[in-house]
Amino acid sequence: MSSRAPEDKTSSRDWFAEGLAHVWLPYAQMKTAAPPLPVIRTDGCRITLADGRELIDGIASWWTACHGYNHPHIRQAVERQLAIMPHVMFGGLAHEPALSLAQRLAALLPGDLDRVFFSESGSVSVEIALKMAVQYWINRAQPQRRKFVAFKGGYHGDTTGAMAVCDPEEGMHALFRGLLPDHVIIDLPRDEESTAAFHQALTRHAGDLAGIIVEPLVQGAGGMKFHAPAVLQRLRQAADRYELLLIFDEIFTGFGRTGTMFACQAADVLPDIVTLSKALSGGTLPLAATVARRKVFDAFWSDDPKKALMHGPTYMGNALACAAANASLDLFEREPRLQQVKAISAALARELEPCRGMQGVKDVRVQGAIGVVELAHIDSCDRLAARFVEAGVFIRPFGNIVYLTPAFTIGQEELAKLTGAIRKVLG
Ligand code: PMP
Repeated sequence: MSSRAPEDKTSSRDWFAEGLAHVWLPYAQMKTAAPPLPVIRTDGCRITLADGRELIDGIASWWTACHGYNHPHIRQAVERQLAIMPHVMFGGLAHEPALSLAQRLAALLPGDLDRVFFSESGSVSVEIALKMAVQYWINRAQPQRRKFVAFKGGYHGDTTGAMAVCDPEEGMHALFRGLLPDHVIIDLPRDEESTAAFHQALTRHAGDLAGIIVEPLVQGAGGMKFHAPAVLQRLRQAADRYELLLIFDEIFTGFGRTGTMFACQAADVLPDIVTLSKALSGGTLPLAATVARRKVFDAFWSDDPKKALMHGPTYMGNALACAAANASLDLFEREPRLQQVKAISAALARELEPCRGMQGVKDVRVQGAIGVVELAHIDSCDRLAARFVEAGVFIRPFGNIVYLTPAFTIGQEELAKLTGAIRKVLG
């Protein structure tokens, strides 16, 4: 038994130094990676470190905290729910927070995207979308349709089904050969040449294909690459022609990030299945949803038990997470989030533009509340991140990308501090 006094347990040195030896960190070669920064508090767009330093957050915790941290409305909703019922299993039981949320998502999403399957992470919601699409075809007596068309530069999660539809490098397909199913991974049909190759691939594989999966408008973790709405319209036309289910992974793009509530709305394209997570709960609790159109759901509606979707994560529809998501949707209704995104977009474009002339900068691009400075090469993302911390901001470069995805509630001055830090550190 430890002889430490209870108050010692909260001292930063104890939990950090002692705990770090026992935790396995994400996306890190732990032998050589810089240690994480000890955080003790968040508020709005600020992160407070254990040594008292305060950083302006440029990433909103992997794009989740769209209303900033600790928003009182979300906090109160979660506290209220915590007192009543933190969680109850969703098998055989249902509750108001999840059912209201399902109804609200159905109303917000376009067309007949109106059947919501809850899970607890983005990757799992993608697994469910893929499984739904494959079983859609099994239920319709075409069980050979089990492959997907996915795109280079795409990222859909770290579980094996999702990895298999990522860009082969991002999903580390070579390393996990034999474990991952083979899909058709090609270039997005952006121009004449890639569109011709896309159609060729569809013709060749048509009979084996269940669907197409894409991150609409912005491929996030694969390099913050943007594409035009016309690309999505091309995908919809091809999906109709070859009778494929079109899956939009809006885990990053959903809830205003690209300028409209959902990216599919900017392209006026109705996908058959949508995955949502990240900003769904306003960055408070883990929650995801796979939302299907009526024709998808109808393929499962039967007297035959084998036609049911056999899936049900333990924490599915968690009441606290659903309460947070409902509160987050209240904020989208009550506060001018999409106008804020527009203002952030203009500021990002204006304030990052001077980077374009800088040495080593390949491109500067902005879409909604996403600002990207693409470099020719980054020697060490850790070293670059450390320089951002010295400048008072939390920015996490990856690959050859420095990017900002701030909370939509960020103040002008806070945003200027982020863009100023990028100009200073890269300049
Ligand atoms: N799809 C997209 C587009 C994502 O950006 C991510 C996460 N970065 C995922 C899926 C996976 O989500 P999670 O990390 O919650 O499993």
